[in-house]
Amino acid sequence: MSNKIEYKIILVGNTNVGKTSLFRKILGEEFLQKNISTIGVDQKTFYTNLKIDNKEGKKENREFEIKLYDTAGEEKFRALTKSFFNGANGIFLIYDVTERNSFEQVSEWLNNLKDDLGDPKEAKYVIILIGNKIDLVKDNIKEQAVESYEASDKCEESGFYWGGELSAKTFNEEQLKEKINEYILQIYKKVGANKHGQQKSKNISNNKKKGRKFC
Ligand code: GDP
Ligand code: MG
Repeated sequence: MSNKIEYKIILVGNTNVGKTSLFRKILGEEFLQKNISTIGVDQKTFYTNLKIDNKEGKKENREFEIKLYDTAGEEKFRALTKSFFNGANGIFLIYDVTERNSFEQVSEWLNNLKDDLGDPKEAKYVIILIGNKIDLVKDNIKEQAVESYEASDKCEESGFYWGGELSAKTFNEEQLKEKINEYILQIYKKVGANKHGQQKSKNISNNKKKGRKFC
C-alpha cells in the first residue's frame, strides 16, 4: 500500500511570533526581515517521505501530503470559524522565546483549541508547542524570556508535544525539515494513516465536531 497520508496542519500563536516566517521557510521560501502581514488564512501544500512503523510492525516508507495553514494573530482568532479547525490533525502552536507574553497566551490558545477540536489529551490531533526566534538568544541580542523547561513542563501538563526551540531566521532548510518531519511522525503516532476528518476518536463525546465532510 503506497497511497499517501494526508494531514491538515495549522500554525497558530500570537502576532509577531514568526508564524508566517516559519510557513515560508517550511515551504522553501526565503526569510524576510520585514513583517509580512497575514490576512485571514494562507494555505499551501507540501510533501515529505517518512519511514513509519506499519500495522504489522514493519518499517515502511510513506509519502505525506501536508496541507499547511498560516493564520493571522490572536485578535483575529474568533474570526476563524470552528469549521476552519475541523479536521485539523496537527497544530503548530508558536511562541517567541524572547517574549514572555506570547508564552503566557499559550493557555488561551489551548482553551480556544479545546472548544473547537477537543482536549488534546483525548482527541485525535496533536498540538506541538514550538519556541521560535532562538537565534536572538544565541546571538546575545535579546534575553531568553521563557526557559525551555517551562515550555516542556507546559507540554506535559497540557498534553502537547514539545517541539523544542528553533529559528525561522537561522535554521537552514535541512534543520527545519528534520524538525518538521519529527512533528509529522508525532502526529502519525497518534492519528494514524486515516485521512483527515475520517479518523475515529476514542472519545467521541469529547470531540463532537469530527466531521466527515473532508473525505
Ligand atoms: P507572525 O505575525 O507570527 O506571522 O510573524 P512574522 O513571521 O510576520 O514575523 C514577525 C517578525 O519577526 C518579522 O520581522 C520577522 O522577520 C521576525 N522573525 C520571525 N521569525 C524570526 C526568527 O526566528 N528570528 C528572528 N530574529 N526574527 C524572526
Ligand atoms: Mg503572519
